[in-house]
Amino acid sequence: MGKKLETYNLYEKGIEDLIISADKVAHVQLNNPLEHAMLILIKSGYSSIPVLDSEFKLQGLISQPLILDSILGIERIEFEKLGQYVVKDVMNREIPFINENEGFFKALKLAIDNPFLCVVDDAHTFKGILTRRTLLKFVNRYLHETSKESVGPS
Ligand code: AMP
Repeated sequence: MGKKLETYNLYEKGIEDLIISADKVAHVQLNNPLEHAMLILIKSGYSSIPVLDSEFKLQGLISQPLILDSILGIERIEFEKLGQYVVKDVMNREIPFINENEGFFKALKLAIDNPFLCVVDDAHTFKGILTRRTLLKFVNRYLHETSKESVGPS
């Protein structure tokens, strides 16, 4: 009985409390030099980070492989080219994102193929990210709690 109630609640659940807020997310801007983006990626240790415009709207993602690919010569990586491009020249514009008002299951489904999702509001303003890790941590806690309840006293 208790278990069914929990399942129902999960279908009703939003994602707000699982979001890593924008002020804690490493990001770059469209016109930042590639060298700056490379520094942020290396220093933060993240494989991919959001790209925002001057109004804080989500525009894409940038990653080390994308940057390295853009400066790849025939025989070597041409690091001197890092100064010739800006982030918007090489970023990926087709990226997974989710509205902050979407439900938990939509996020879970998108997270199957993406290590993290960018979260936006209705105006496409960047609100933060939702990582697969956070979602799995929540699912793990939820499953433990509901199975405890199902064997516990009613
Ligand atoms: P994690 O679940 O912490 O392994 O994060 C998965 C991916 O989400 C990382 O590789 C980054 O691409 C992105 N990510 C997580 N936390 C942050 C953050 N604070 N700032 C920027 N990107 C992040």
